[in-house]
Amino acid sequence: MLSPDLLVKATAADNTIRALAAVTTALAEEARVRHQTAPTASAALGRTLTASLLLGSMLKEDEKLSLQFMGRGPLRGIFAEANGQGEVRGFVYHPRTHLPLNRGKLNVGGAVGAGTLTVIRAQSWNKEPYRSVLPIVSGEIGADIAHYLLSSEQIPSAVSLGVFVAPTEAVVAAGGFILQVMPGASPETIAQLETCVARAKPVSQLVREGASPIEIITHALEGFTPMTVGEVPVRFVCRCSRERVMGALVALGVAEIRDLVKKEGQARVTCEFCNEQYVLDRGELEALIASC
Ligand SMILES: [Zn+2]
Repeated sequence: MLSPDLLVKATAADNTIRALAAVTTALAEEARVRHQTAPTASAALGRTLTASLLLGSMLKEDEKLSLQFMGRGPLRGIFAEANGQGEVRGFVYHPRTHLPLNRGKLNVGGAVGAGTLTVIRAQSWNKEPYRSVLPIVSGEIGADIAHYLLSSEQIPSAVSLGVFVAPTEAVVAAGGFILQVMPGASPETIAQLETCVARAKPVSQLVREGASPIEIITHALEGFTPMTVGEVPVRFVCRCSRERVMGALVALGVAEIRDLVKKEGQARVTCEFCNEQYVLDRGELEALIASC
């Protein structure tokens, strides 16, 4: 029996270790179905959605975090956006990307390729978001997030992300964890943590075995006594709506809407984040023109 989607935050070793873990199977599968991704793309998207939730859980209430991988591989790019309330949405640029397995594993690094990772932290009270742009180190996502945490946030971190795709192409297990060394950690704690990281099973295997986020943390921090400090249900949420689509059409201008009425007799708008399709018929478009 698989654990439901959930994110747990914990600490260990007198707060000198921070641990975050999430099970994201249902939301990664929802993303796959919405975007009709092929297995390699499903793994890339699932890992990135999970990473943005884990990083997002460290944010303050009014903050938002987005991850954007732009690579020269066939996938071309991945975008994911999360907040501290466990809501995430995202997409890949070429959803049908699938590569031959690399040593038995989905070749996410090959699909992403060399390029840049942009991490944006937006705050509702601050016009200018924090933006970090880094070179992609492996394209496997986990290593890239660890590189970001070390070079931009100065926090040494072990990041493990995993998505297991069944032969039916369904995502049947997804999740991840981040272990971080906080200031004041003793050399013994750091050495013990390194041993733990080297020994930990792949997170997709743990999720397949039915592990919950706290069980993932307990496994990854073997020998420590982790303490849960918070948990939040996680899910795929997009804020698009008919009203927003109409707002976007109005922003295009009356002439553009008239053109749509004349040429198409309707407007078809697809949300790139969740692939929801909105169709506005002639009457709705004419009402929109009248309201401008
Ligand atoms: Zn949407």
